[in-house]
Amino acid sequence: MTGWLVVAGLGPGADELVTPQVAAALAQATDVVGYIPYVARVAPRAGLTLHPSDNRVEIDRAQHALQMASEGRRVVVVSSGDPGVFAMASAIFEALEARPEFLSLDIRILPGITAMLAAAASAGAPLGHDFCAINLSDNLKPFATVEKRVALAAQGDFAMAFYNPRSASRPHQFARVLEVLREHCEPSRLIIFARAVSTPDEALNTVTLAEATPEMADMRTVVLVGNSQTRRIGPHIYTPRSAL
Ligand code: SAH
Repeated sequence: MTGWLVVAGLGPGADELVTPQVAAALAQATDVVGYIPYVARVAPRAGLTLHPSDNRVEIDRAQHALQMASEGRRVVVVSSGDPGVFAMASAIFEALEARPEFLSLDIRILPGITAMLAAAASAGAPLGHDFCAINLSDNLKPFATVEKRVALAAQGDFAMAFYNPRSASRPHQFARVLEVLREHCEPSRLIIFARAVSTPDEALNTVTLAEATPEMADMRTVVLVGNSQTRRIGPHIYTPRSAL
C-alpha cells in the first residue's frame, strides 16, 4: 500500500459545503487525524481509524500523521473551514521542516470554504473590496501584534475578518480590539457578528461600532468589520467594489 497525507478543510459546518474532492479523500482514507470536534464530523466506517486529539497538540498531531503516511497509511488531517487559514496545513509543513526524511511523501492540501467567506455570503458581500483576516488569539503571537495589525488595517481602510475573537481564557482582549477600532473608525462603521455559520445554530447580528459589545462574540463567531463604504441595502450588507 502506498501511503499519502491529505490535509483537508471540512468547511464551516454544513455537509453540502464539504467539497467533492474532500469527500473523495475521506472515502479512501485509512486514518483521520484532527481536533476532537472536527474528527466527530467524519462518519465512522469499517477500515477507518479515527484519531481525535486536543487542540493544543498540533505539532504532535502533524508528526503522527507524517509517521502513519510513511508506514503506508492513507491519512487525512482534518481542519474546519480551510486548512490553510489558522489551521493544520502550516503545522504539517512545520513538522516536515523538522523531519526532512518525510520530504518524499505524497502530501496534498485540499481547500475548504473558510468561515469568513461563508459568513460574508450569508450577510451579502461585506468583503467585496480589499480585506484582511486577523486571528485575535494570542496563543501563537503577542497581543501587541494583534493590536498593531488591527490599527494598521483600520488606517488602511481594509474590511476585516476576525477569527478566534474571544474565549473564556482571554475575555478582555476583544474589548481592547473594539477600543482600537474606535480610535480609527467612525461610530457608524458596520460590524457583523456571524455565529456558527451554516449550522442549525447560525445567527448573524449586524450592529454599528458604537453599539458593539464584547459579549456579542464567542469562539464560534467570526467577526466581519466593514470598510468606511460598507452599507446596508434592505436586509443585505455590502461593500462597493470601488474605493473613493
Ligand atoms: N480553518 C478555519 C478557522 C479555524 S480558527 C476556517 O478556515 O474557517 C477557529 C475560528 O474560526 C473560530 O473561533 C471562529 O472565529 C471561526 N469559525 C469557524 N467555523 C465557523 C462558523 N461555522 N461560523 C462562524 N465562525 C466560524
